[in-house]
Amino acid sequence: SPAAVAVLGLGAMGSALAGALLDAGHRVTVWNRTPARAEPLAARGAAVAPTAEQALAAAPLAIVCLLDYASVREALDPAAGALAGRVLANLTNGTPEQARAMADWAARHGAAYLDGGIMATPSMIGGHASSVLYSGAPEAFEAHRAAFETFGEAVFLGPDPGAAPLNDLALLTGMYGMLGGFLHATALVGADGPSASEFTAERLIPWLSGMMQDLPEIARQIDTGDTPPAESNLAMQAAGYVNLIRASQAQGVRTDLIAPMGELLREAVARGRGDGDLAALHDLLTAPTG
Ligand code: NDP
Repeated sequence: SPAAVAVLGLGAMGSALAGALLDAGHRVTVWNRTPARAEPLAARGAAVAPTAEQALAAAPLAIVCLLDYASVREALDPAAGALAGRVLANLTNGTPEQARAMADWAARHGAAYLDGGIMATPSMIGGHASSVLYSGAPEAFEAHRAAFETFGEAVFLGPDPGAAPLNDLALLTGMYGMLGGFLHATALVGADGPSASEFTAERLIPWLSGMMQDLPEIARQIDTGDTPPAESNLAMQAAGYVNLIRASQAQGVRTDLIAPMGELLREAVARGRGDGDLAALHDLLTAPTG
């Protein structure tokens, strides 16, 4: 049966999380540093706590979604006395190290800890494409799974609190690589070319969708160390990449979003990997250079 949940932090994301819980029939108590942001949720049936401590005291599960870990500590330090025996689920973006330190801090105050990475924008929360990654106390996740599933798919990644933020940041890395490429590509086709909308819909999305099909094979080569003959060898790619930089400069488009990949290709060729494929770049990122 729907349980009591406290939501601390009513920015764009915290408000969406609280809204999803209300829609699912949970009894929701909310707190925000700036109280006015609680008004729309109060109108939908949420109880409003005047302090973070009173919010924590109102429910066995507290979901925290603030700007960053510094703001979480600032909000929770004065409220720590109310944490004992409760579950703290911190869905604020942070690093694995921050998550582990927060888990230790919560344990010192008697709370079970879950860290989370939200793989959705606020308007996606509760919809089909939304998922949230969790890691930390397994019993806490199981006990509150129903509440977590109101946000979207709830994925548990194991007891290390750092696992969810690590996966979250890795997914964001992939996203920003794609978005950086998208921004550069639309700048490069420029004023004389098709509109950004036309280029994106008719050229870029089909191209990227096709290229996406290559990722599992590259991943397999990274996992196995298998190096079949390259269909698109790195020496060829390094030579072509120079043109992409030159054309950008000629168009007056800054190259800082795309230049590092060219440097990595050049390094791979200089190290004798010119006949390799993209998987041959993997350990250049992970091995110390020298
Ligand atoms: P907003 O900027 O909309 O809200 C920030 C929230 O943090 C507000 O509730 C704000 O309170 C609070 N806050 C900031 N500093 C402090 C402080 N020192 N003490 C107490 N409260 C503080 O951000 P979002 O809601 O969009 O993001 C929240 C978290 O969710 C972030 O970690 C973000 O990375 C993550 N996230 C966001 C996504 C998005 O698309 N929006 C997607 C996935 C994750 P106040 O109202 O008083 O300023």
